[in-house]
Amino acid sequence: MTDTAAANAATPPFPEQQQDVPGRTDQMDPAPDHGEESYRGSGRLEGKKAIITGGDSGIGRAVAIAFAREGADILVSYLNEDDDAAETKKWVEKAGQKCTLVAGDISDPAHCREIVQTAVSEFGTVDILVNNAAHQMTFENLEDIPDEEWQKTFATNIHAMFYLAKAALPNMGEGGSIINTASINSDQPSPTLLPYATTKGAIQNFTAGLAQLLADKKIRVNCVAPGPVWTPLIPSTMPKEAVENFGKNYPIGRPAQPAELAPPYVMLATDEASYISGATVAVTGGKPLI
Ligand code: NAD
Repeated sequence: MTDTAAANAATPPFPEQQQDVPGRTDQMDPAPDHGEESYRGSGRLEGKKAIITGGDSGIGRAVAIAFAREGADILVSYLNEDDDAAETKKWVEKAGQKCTLVAGDISDPAHCREIVQTAVSEFGTVDILVNNAAHQMTFENLEDIPDEEWQKTFATNIHAMFYLAKAALPNMGEGGSIINTASINSDQPSPTLLPYATTKGAIQNFTAGLAQLLADKKIRVNCVAPGPVWTPLIPSTMPKEAVENFGKNYPIGRPAQPAELAPPYVMLATDEASYISGATVAVTGGKPLI
């Protein structure tokens, strides 16, 4: 375990920290591990072209680094975190692959279409679509949740997946793979994350339905359901005490590092996963997801 993310993983309690939404990697203490020093590729995605939403930081950055080291070119979509996006681009290019950055709000259907059009004009095709970006916010009471917050969470987390998948489909050939980031909240909703958890349930259901709809086109659709992961999402959307003890109540006793999420995304993207579609891969630190 000497050079794996697990060997270096941080355990709670974490230092007190809070950030504004959407959060920045360089303000996190300890710094997350995206596999920069540990992920080793072996050409499993040679020649493939991938779109990764939320690819600037956290899980998305770890997936971008892993995909690039497996031989894929990457389009990274993100909201506005230019520094984080530039850092991801640096690692993708260091792996010898192309990286295109597209900032903007995926809750806007026109922006989703623009993301796909950019990928097609840069790369010619889309082989892999990773729908990974999400918005969340913590609320103690139902009456504290503004209608706009409810709508924003749905527009960002689930409506965007529909717009992106629909735009990508005509540009995806046989062997295409769509991978959606769900959550343990898909199965075990956290009451203080009501809007977010509800969208995560929808994402799992959307994945299962879309997998059946696209099977005859030989395009596979799956989701990865993470448990707690040490990313900017956490200090920017969760209360102090929750950040301090993040991941403590999971059997493994700590949150995952983003690098520990990348392997299932790689597996689902490869042609080796040709019979896996409609599945949810749980990466939940020992907490069962049934
Ligand atoms: P992160 O903060 O690194 O990534 C979230 C990304 O979403 C950011 O890159 C941000 O740019 C993007 N984003 C947010 N709103 C957007 C918008 N309107 N338009 C475009 N982009 C937008 O956090 P992360 O934890 O790596 O999150 C990635 C995925 O993992 C999310 O789907 C999240 O729900 C899921 N997840 C995370 C955890 C966790 O504990 N961190 C647990 C379960 C699931």
